[in-house]
Amino acid sequence: MIAKYSLRAITQATYPRAITALLAATLAVLIDPIFRFSDYRALLHLLPVAGAMKFSGLLTLVFLQVVALFYLILLFPRILRTAVFLLSVFVVVVELSYWRTLSQFMTGTDLFLALTVGGDHRMEAVESFLNPLTFLYALPYILIMFALILVPFRSTFRKSLALSILPVIFLLTSNYALFLHVPERSFHLNPLTSFLRSTLHYEFENLYEYSGPRDDLPPAHASERPRDSIIYVIDESVRGSNLSLNGYPRATTPFLQYLETQGLLKNLGICVAAGSFSYISNAYLITGHNAFPDDAFRTDRNPTIFDYAKKMGYETIYIDINQGYLSPLMKAAGNGPVRSLDRWMTDQAFKERHVDLDTTKDLGIARLLSSLLNERGGYFVVINKKGLHFHYRNRYPDDMASTIWRPVMEASEPIDPSAAGREKLVNTYDNGIRFQVDEFFRVFVSETTNQNYVILYTSDHGQTLAEHGQVYTHMKPDKVIVDVPDFLVSGERYSKKGLLAGIPPGIRVSHLNNFATLLDLMGVPISLRVRPYDKSIFSLTVEDNRARFYMSGSLHGLGDYVVKVIPTPPDAGWGVSRPVGNGSTSE
Ligand SMILES: [Zn+2]
Repeated sequence: MIAKYSLRAITQATYPRAITALLAATLAVLIDPIFRFSDYRALLHLLPVAGAMKFSGLLTLVFLQVVALFYLILLFPRILRTAVFLLSVFVVVVELSYWRTLSQFMTGTDLFLALTVGGDHRMEAVESFLNPLTFLYALPYILIMFALILVPFRSTFRKSLALSILPVIFLLTSNYALFLHVPERSFHLNPLTSFLRSTLHYEFENLYEYSGPRDDLPPAHASERPRDSIIYVIDESVRGSNLSLNGYPRATTPFLQYLETQGLLKNLGICVAAGSFSYISNAYLITGHNAFPDDAFRTDRNPTIFDYAKKMGYETIYIDINQGYLSPLMKAAGNGPVRSLDRWMTDQAFKERHVDLDTTKDLGIARLLSSLLNERGGYFVVINKKGLHFHYRNRYPDDMASTIWRPVMEASEPIDPSAAGREKLVNTYDNGIRFQVDEFFRVFVSETTNQNYVILYTSDHGQTLAEHGQVYTHMKPDKVIVDVPDFLVSGERYSKKGLLAGIPPGIRVSHLNNFATLLDLMGVPISLRVRPYDKSIFSLTVEDNRARFYMSGSLHGLGDYVVKVIPTPPDAGWGVSRPVGNGSTSE
């Protein structure tokens, strides 16, 4: 009765829309601190008095944004409002899932990744974030949004358009001011305005991006096609300290250890990744940039590793079945071929060759690589593997032989950070390492007859394995996430073996050392190197890399980002991983 009465009172008021928007916004804004009380309390404790004043000012600004947003929605005819309602429900559920998993709403960078990262990453991300409890959290917002549909529509198109100008200008300018002056993460008031803010943030970032061509290399001409092949394997989500090669107590990489005893593997220990997610790490790995964040757009301007390889006469191939870093190379290429790249192989190329990567997993790539090398030498190949991207259970065959450590997670089970949940998580992950990393090398090495090759292997980033209760696998700046492997595997007849023998013991490596390492392997003269790259592993000394830096967040520093350091010696426990519980084994 009361609801009906108040609804009538509102609709008969002089400014029904404004009043409804104000009431709905007040309700929406009041709900937030109830659900996320601890976030607000933590923030208030954190802020000094001046900060608290600023914060209140910002809260008021965002409250007005909610009012403006609701007012705009009320200007739509009912049918459109219903569509907006459905979209809003989706946005609220996604934002709250994000918050429950990562303790924050989406940022412009998250949105960028959601829009650019390939299909199954997106599905897996949504799956790993979804939780039935989220719908309970979303319910009050859904009810408020639903109430907005009930308000009758009395307007003409022209009038609506005129009335919408002011709120639209307010939303644009206030969000631009936030983009310029306020870190995205510092507060989130309401999932809907937060989403609008990150969407606009993403658009504003695009205005600043560099979209011109990459720098050219000095003119030079390779006399002939090299005989050796260089393969750069950038694996996915492989944590360095979970390899028995790096001292992990389970035999996750027995074949790699065998190669080491044969003098065919040079282990560089735990490496520090450039970033906590694929996009950042790949941007640095492919372009050799070495400062964080990339506010000079060097990752968009530097020549790529393919440019150097091409210059040295190698035939260049990019095998990308992980869809991690396609877009900037594609964008720069326009509709033409990607600069310095002879062949670009995606899932499609494997289908055409009748290799089913769903069943063979990454072993399909190892076999293709072998067959390429067995035909001839002189290849430079970069591979973005599928590796151990969550869900881990999908990364190795569902048979007894591959399920070495038990119990394991179900294929789509979300991460459970309890002791029992972690035991399954780590078992599943370790089975994945044994297959996607160790078996990958076993297949490649045993099927390759042309032994004049070298492989530089690393991973884009590691994984949390829920060690400190994290329900996310990576993306956040946790130090454990940048723990990755780095090693060289060479064929028995590799022509530059002498170079590998000269690696000094006791060096500490980071992703930033890999670029010049590849240039050295290709034999690129100093006169051709156009940027001051970090040292290659062949020139590193035990004095170098006392501090190894990495970043997370907005690559170009336009949105939220952090730059962190792994010191020497590292924090206790960094670079070390241990299995959980007793977990039965078939070995
Ligand atoms: Zn990744």
